[in-house]
Amino acid sequence: MINGIAFSGIQCPQCLYIFYGRNQFEIHEKCPICNFSGAWWVFPSGPLCKILTAILNHSKHEFIAVILTCTLFECMLQNFLKQYMGKLEINDKLILKKHRNIEEQIKILYKSFIGKSFKESIQETELKNYYDEWKEIKKKRNLFIHGNVYAIGTETVEKSIKLSKNTFSLFAWLNNKYIHDKKHERKKS
Ligand SMILES: [Zn+2]
Repeated sequence: MINGIAFSGIQCPQCLYIFYGRNQFEIHEKCPICNFSGAWWVFPSGPLCKILTAILNHSKHEFIAVILTCTLFECMLQNFLKQYMGKLEINDKLILKKHRNIEEQIKILYKSFIGKSFKESIQETELKNYYDEWKEIKKKRNLFIHGNVYAIGTETVEKSIKLSKNTFSLFAWLNNKYIHDKKHERKKS
């Protein structure tokens, strides 16, 4: 199950588990799963989340939130695919160069690696409507970029903020299911 709404998290460099939601601030020096001590990796979307939060709090140009929400999704998907390929020791550069398009990354790469569609994976989480919500935000973003300045209103901005938070939670959940390396887990005493 997805562990609450999160905007950022930290990833253990050894077992690759991502701590997010309420747990993330309780972690100090050692990974509670594999006992690794050392520097934590900040999950790569962190800076983007910070910019998004700053814009939402201070900017009058809230439409930027919608554009950044789509960028966040694209970064998180690429990061997930890269880490998955890293685990399989596949050269991600060539594959990602071949499939630059986001639809291809979802429909071809994700499906062939995970063995099920992205949409099916989402159905295993609490975020059942995520896929349709993302499609709607993406459509509005494209309309805006191609010249319809009225495509993004307050409602779309609010929906995109919710979607960004869910995007982080979704990819952290996927990471912990498919990338987190369970061989480092401590044996339960
Ligand atoms: Zn760990």
